[in-house]
Amino acid sequence: MLFSCPLSSIHYISKSIFSVISRKPYFSTMSIHLKSPVFAGNPIRSKTPKSIDPFSPASAFQTLKVLLSGQSHLQEPSSPKFQVLPFRKGRPLAGSTGDLVKKWHLGWLTFADFKDVLEGTEVKLSDDLLVYLGCKTEKGEEEEEEDNVVYWAIDVSQGISLVEKLGSRQLTFVELRTLMVATDWADDAAMGELAIAGHARALLEWHNTSRFCGSCGEMLVPTEAGTRKQCIKDSCKKRIYPRVDPVVIMLVIDKENDCALLSKNTRFVPRMWSCLAGFIEPGESLEEAVRRETWEETGIQVGEVVYHSSQPWPVGPSSMPCQLMIGFLAYATSVEINVDKRELEDAKWYSREEVKKALTFAEYEKAQRTSAYKVDQMCKGVEKGQSLAADFNVESGELATMFVPGPFAIAHHLISSWAHQVSENGISTQTKGLILKSFHGDDADKQFLILKSSQVLKKKILVFGI
Ligand SMILES: [Zn+2]
Repeated sequence: MLFSCPLSSIHYISKSIFSVISRKPYFSTMSIHLKSPVFAGNPIRSKTPKSIDPFSPASAFQTLKVLLSGQSHLQEPSSPKFQVLPFRKGRPLAGSTGDLVKKWHLGWLTFADFKDVLEGTEVKLSDDLLVYLGCKTEKGEEEEEEDNVVYWAIDVSQGISLVEKLGSRQLTFVELRTLMVATDWADDAAMGELAIAGHARALLEWHNTSRFCGSCGEMLVPTEAGTRKQCIKDSCKKRIYPRVDPVVIMLVIDKENDCALLSKNTRFVPRMWSCLAGFIEPGESLEEAVRRETWEETGIQVGEVVYHSSQPWPVGPSSMPCQLMIGFLAYATSVEINVDKRELEDAKWYSREEVKKALTFAEYEKAQRTSAYKVDQMCKGVEKGQSLAADFNVESGELATMFVPGPFAIAHHLISSWAHQVSENGISTQTKGLILKSFHGDDADKQFLILKSSQVLKKKILVFGI
């Protein structure tokens, strides 16, 4: 099955080394390392609160119910404070600040403010519309005083008049992909906001597409502050959980000829080449999925499969609220390409130098600044467009024949880590992480997971999953 999106994450610098090298992501020879994959590292989900905590989903939902029932004279609680992030048609509310350097931010509203904004609009507020996103607990200025905040998301797609009201505050609903490209990956706070927006979008899309029980056909209603759903029929009561669609994404490598296999798709921006990717089928292991997809799309046989990193991907089609991109380096055992034109436009072997050149050509930082400016203009009501095509179309000097996805995508980091690998004493340093090895023939029934420390890991520079 063809995976619909070319993009997606990353390897990491270990925290200790990271802090020694720099407070900011480390750039070397066009290789960009992030602290965590884009859309991961959500700052308000780091701890799951206990149900008795006032900022837990259960407690916060009770507070919300009281607020909305009119039993409370308060407009909003003093602790935990509530912050609400409205979405419209999958787009989070955003604003922008900055003079020369534009920086977007999410359009958080206090609960009281949000109720004011809703006055006279088409949206009728009820507790089942709000979805719990997480909480932040901080020590206040006074000893023992805690400044707790609970964060909620809500879909206000019904509210047309809301758009104008928010526009007067220079807040507007922006496509998440546009915000993704506009995010400065050296800015921890912005990366955190992007992760929150991604999680929120995934949950709201899941609510939109999961309305009825798959067992009995009755309605599903939100439970646990919108983090789960349940069938209303007494004899059924089926519970369902937010959906995640796992996808394998792999850079196929020909070790002998020092080449990598990149593919092109009609859905990609022109001249963009990326990794192969595809959905995992039921009853299939990760390494089997990597081998099957590569074979189906390009006719290339794959042997060893090495885990690299993973990335949540909440910007795919709305029928799939959140894909989990699981990235691999896959070592080819054949070289002859036979492209399945129903799946791909083209696939080619590229030398390491060609791939390095493609990484150099693409002006990712310029694309980021351009997008940030565009978001700023949208928030000021100057620009209405949501087109993303131009954001990827980055190049400088002579016309680049090809480029690869930006640092917000796992494909970029798979490609970049191979292109910039360093060979020491003839030993490849790209093999790192979890080797997923399947044995065929006589050993077909045996599968082994072998955790291999890599040369890179031993040097304490690159690790995964930290
Ligand atoms: Zn049911």
